[in-house]
Amino acid sequence: MKCPFCQHEDTQVLDTRISEEGDSIRRRRRCGKCDKRFTTYERIELSMPMLVKKSGSRTEFDVAKLRSSLMLALRKRPVSAESIDKAVSSIEEKLLNSGLREVETGFVGELVMAELKALDKIAYIRFASVYKNFEDLAEFQEAIAEVGRERKPRKS
Ligand SMILES: [Zn+2]
Repeated sequence: MKCPFCQHEDTQVLDTRISEEGDSIRRRRRCGKCDKRFTTYERIELSMPMLVKKSGSRTEFDVAKLRSSLMLALRKRPVSAESIDKAVSSIEEKLLNSGLREVETGFVGELVMAELKALDKIAYIRFASVYKNFEDLAEFQEAIAEVGRERKPRKS
């Protein structure tokens, strides 16, 4: 690590500490030439995987796009903005934690479906019908039946 004051290449580590959260390391350093001291931090860097489209082309993960596709499916549905935010962060987190460098767009689609399924059944079917394209009518009926089975009877 170069000295930020005199650019000298040789600096000595005086002290190393792990942060309370355990997610970063702080090092106190001293320059061997000008004797000035400075601190460096080491952190884990997680990065979003690239999305691989069906065509094979790669695109960067775009959180705005993710949010807008969720909002589109949830249009006029009784779901709060806060719940949408939570769903978006949960998908982002899963992608980060996957540790993968690339994921197929279908993987993200499945994550979105899982979130929508928990949020709102109508939105789930909306999204699924577009996303899965439902070329197969049986597949569509199956999705509807699946939602129906999960609906709990309400007491009035
Ligand atoms: Zn120096």
